[in-house]
Amino acid sequence: MGTSDIVGELIVLQGIDLEILKVNEELECLKQELSTLALEVEELTAKEVQLRDQTGEAEQRVQRFQRSVNAGRETLKRLEMRVTAVANMQQHFAVKSETDTARRNLRAAEDEQLSAMQDAETARLGLMEVVGDLAQAKEVLASRGTEVGNQRSELEGQLEAHITSREEQEGQIEMNTLRLYRSVSAKRSDSALAAIVEGPVDGVCGRCYTTVPKQRRADIRSGRSLALCEGCGVILHAEMTDA
Ligand SMILES: [Zn+2]
Repeated sequence: MGTSDIVGELIVLQGIDLEILKVNEELECLKQELSTLALEVEELTAKEVQLRDQTGEAEQRVQRFQRSVNAGRETLKRLEMRVTAVANMQQHFAVKSETDTARRNLRAAEDEQLSAMQDAETARLGLMEVVGDLAQAKEVLASRGTEVGNQRSELEGQLEAHITSREEQEGQIEMNTLRLYRSVSAKRSDSALAAIVEGPVDGVCGRCYTTVPKQRRADIRSGRSLALCEGCGVILHAEMTDA
């Protein structure tokens, strides 16, 4: 097999490698998308629980202050009755002082109750919103889940086909060449191959423009050997006019 044939086979293999990479990336994207959607449902569920607790707690406070308010009103009623039955100024002032205190206590209980009612209302409104958001998020997860499932099995089918053709293509290539290609491509995210191009004086690597010594260039052109660029480490090949 001549060098240009070897390079041709490597280019085909690289094409398949890129397809596999692309499909794997798409699969990873789908996985990410689903886990983001699932996380949203999880977070909203936790928020719902929290807001239910808050609502319940605020409602209990409303009840508790309602009892204080009722008790305060009873006390005031009792004091009003006592006012009508005072025998002297001293008793009158005593009742008046107790009444003032009872009024202050009642007002404080009413304020507390109002604030608890507002808390309960805020929590209820938040809860309603979260319940709505949660239902929507669950719906999105369910419908996207089905779509993603379909896309995933399609991609997995493609992946399997690519892996089969990769095995076939690797079977076309000599073991040492394959090892060289694998070790070069493992170190880079772009192409493992670059053509030698004409530089101002001499041939240079088409990737990093490092000069390729004359003798090496001749070897590569003659198809005697595969060579790595001294600058960037890619597998160099002669310009392929028929590619
Ligand atoms: Zn280079």
